[in-house]
Amino acid sequence: MLVADNLLKIKQTLPPDVTLVAVSKFKPAEMILEAYEAGQRDFGENYVQELVDKSEQLPKDIRWHFIGHLQSNKVKYIAPFVHLIQGVDSYKLLLEINKQAQKNNRVINCLLQLHIAVEETKFGLSLDECREIFKSGALNELKHVNVCGLMAMASNTADEAHVRGEYQVLNLFRLDLMADGYPLNTASYGMSGDYHLAIACGSNMVRIGSSIFGERH
Ligand SMILES: *Cc1c(COP(=O)(O)O)cnc(C)c1O
Repeated sequence: MLVADNLLKIKQTLPPDVTLVAVSKFKPAEMILEAYEAGQRDFGENYVQELVDKSEQLPKDIRWHFIGHLQSNKVKYIAPFVHLIQGVDSYKLLLEINKQAQKNNRVINCLLQLHIAVEETKFGLSLDECREIFKSGALNELKHVNVCGLMAMASNTADEAHVRGEYQVLNLFRLDLMADGYPLNTASYGMSGDYHLAIACGSNMVRIGSSIFGERH
């Protein structure tokens, strides 16, 4: 019951236009099912094998989000069913997603991941690299990917002003691109520790793990 309680408490605090992705990495299928039975349909996973295994065990109407760092050679395993690939950090990866989506006769929704945090270890495109992907027109060639927004992680710090600053820069960048005609409607920023800040800065999709399922070991 704990999972369902946590989930419903969080949902009550979210504005209606914000999508909650329950991040279930390392958590067993039974816990996911508990959230599912409480009405949750969007789940996020970071590892391809774990995602494939869970998708086979769990109800077919779950919308699976891949939120980890995706290697090109593994796209084929998730291409048949993934709902949204959130961590796309290169044009090369988009090319492979396009190829695998075509093989599966579908269009795969993707978010480009931006590197806005101070930590070097986090993945993602710089703002310049991201802008270049749009302005170059290269996306027009990819008929089987739909780049519908941006994803990012802020720095891991208790300094709220710093985190807010990162999210604001990111969201202004997104709004600029939208003003230029790119339909980047999905703004996936915010995790357990900072989702209120992220929503205040324009996020409409939050990825929450530990506040729903408990700490990971
Ligand atoms: C694990 C993870 C989350 C969830 O983090 P919590 O702090 O447990 O809410 C969100 N986004 C990404 C990309 C993650 O890897």
